[in-house]
Amino acid sequence: MYVGRFAPSPSGPLHAGSLVVALASYLDAKAARGRWLLRIEDIDTPRTVAGADQIILQQLAALGMIWDGDVWYQSKRLVAYEAAFAALQTKALSYPCACTRREIADSVMALHGKFPDGERPYPGTCRQGIKPGRSPKSWRFLVSPGTISFTDRWCGPQSQDVEHQVGDFVIRRADGIWAYQLAVVVDDADQGVTDIVRGQDLLSSTARQRLLAEALDIVPPSVMHLPLVLDERGLKLSKQNGAPSINTSEPLKTLLSAWKHLELGELAVSTPEAFWQEATARWAGQFYPTRLAP
Ligand code: GLU
Repeated sequence: MYVGRFAPSPSGPLHAGSLVVALASYLDAKAARGRWLLRIEDIDTPRTVAGADQIILQQLAALGMIWDGDVWYQSKRLVAYEAAFAALQTKALSYPCACTRREIADSVMALHGKFPDGERPYPGTCRQGIKPGRSPKSWRFLVSPGTISFTDRWCGPQSQDVEHQVGDFVIRRADGIWAYQLAVVVDDADQGVTDIVRGQDLLSSTARQRLLAEALDIVPPSVMHLPLVLDERGLKLSKQNGAPSINTSEPLKTLLSAWKHLELGELAVSTPEAFWQEATARWAGQFYPTRLAP
């Protein structure tokens, strides 16, 4: 049984970019006749805006995107992250790190002369233990050598050598907050998520998440990473860049403009109900051609 999800961070209301993700994940779940869950990723408390979660819920409901079951909040899941972290420690797959951002940048420069491809892979400074006199800040996952390969349902075959391109990555931040990578893997597993649909900014996180899943004996969900909505400067629309909230007073117009971004052809519809019917059928024809359209 298909289980999909939409997992917004409540750092502000939905904007044109997050709406495309919500729409596509919803259509994928409906076309697969599965469940669509809603998870509020409010673990990054410095970025969380009070009340944004309620606005997001209202926006989704106003557009006709109704989630199945209860809304999950990451802030209520700390025990589960702690347990996963303990499991990784038991397997000796995590270690404390004393490095500051500056130190990591300096040692990457010393090793490579420049940042290869704009990445700053962690050079493994604290792998063998923290130097005397230094105190632990974050905790990192010990990445094993090799290439992670998977097929993205939108972008096609992908592979990443996490050890060389990313390095041992943070699972518990220096401020004590659980890292997104750990929380998302634990939550998707505990919610029984089979299919992730999200933006392409997270495509390069997938290999990391697969490594964590493997270490925690979790079957990784299939993934689809959608093209990002960019602003006029070519930057990803985001709440941090001040992207405007979507307009839910004209649901059809708002839904059609999100749909347009997916480039799946025009929809000649005049009501939100007709939009949902046609869009789901179109999505099913595109991504589930061997099943009967709903
Ligand atoms: N909370 C993340 C975001 O809003 C999405 C995480 C995910 O879908 O894996 O960008």
